[in-house]
Amino acid sequence: MNTLSHGLSWVDLRFHGRSQIIATALAQGHGGVAIIDPGPASCLETLELGLQADGVRWPDVRHILLTHIHLDHSGATGTIVRAHPHIKVLVHERGARHMVDPSKLIDSATRIYGDRMQFFWGEVAPVPAGNLTTLKGGEWVEAGGRTFDVAYTPGHASHHVSFFDRSSGIAFVGDTAGVCINHGFVLPPTPPPDIDVEAWRVSVDRILSWSPATLMLTHFGPITSVRPHLAALLDNLGTTSRMALALLNEAGTDEERGAEFATRLRSLLRTQMSESEVMTYVVAAAYEHLFTGLARYWRKKGLAA
Ligand SMILES: [Zn+2]
Repeated sequence: MNTLSHGLSWVDLRFHGRSQIIATALAQGHGGVAIIDPGPASCLETLELGLQADGVRWPDVRHILLTHIHLDHSGATGTIVRAHPHIKVLVHERGARHMVDPSKLIDSATRIYGDRMQFFWGEVAPVPAGNLTTLKGGEWVEAGGRTFDVAYTPGHASHHVSFFDRSSGIAFVGDTAGVCINHGFVLPPTPPPDIDVEAWRVSVDRILSWSPATLMLTHFGPITSVRPHLAALLDNLGTTSRMALALLNEAGTDEERGAEFATRLRSLLRTQMSESEVMTYVVAAAYEHLFTGLARYWRKKGLAA
């Protein structure tokens, strides 16, 4: 058990046997238990072991809070709710319909993972509309024995929200504060389809306005050097987005550009981390996909052909 604060902990889901890739947070209190981002169904056994280690049984779990609906964060939700239909799921209004009908989510992941889809993510089951509570951002929610402030934090995903527990000063930021494993490079995850660099910067300001003592990252774990961490994220977002734009202005196919982007990003990461750490980052955020997301962003802005 990894304690964050009184009644707050997190579980390493050991995604495909690897530690430090996906973390799920738990909040426990008089109002029962809330799970923040349960992760993919392929990690459900590990999540259950984590709950048991924390003395939590499924009937105690009342809420699942989703930062966003990407499968590494939300994939297991439908499977969990089917087995435990008393659980309420909180998700941004833009993501809700894809929880009710995950076919688009499955299609877009299948385009990337092909026949390894099931192996990577496991089942992606629908969540009945009656189990969903939609969020806009700006409200607060009672879950896990505490009150969370909700903020709309797009940039990584157009339906991303972050949750702030005022009593502990911990902000649950999903992917908005980037990927950072073992105090390494702060990598902005920029997969398709809805990267928005400007919106992301506003979202970081929104998180900073809470003055959080700790950022809880899905990839991976708690960060207490909040301001330097977020400054590094924005710096690196500037770097990777300019790197993608430069490649878009060079000759070649997107496949070639994606491969070149991955090569350049790997050498940038190597300046700060060991080779094995660079490989761990690949599992959390495949570098070629990061190019695809940024390419789409620049083309939407009309700044690349
Ligand atoms: Zn993620």
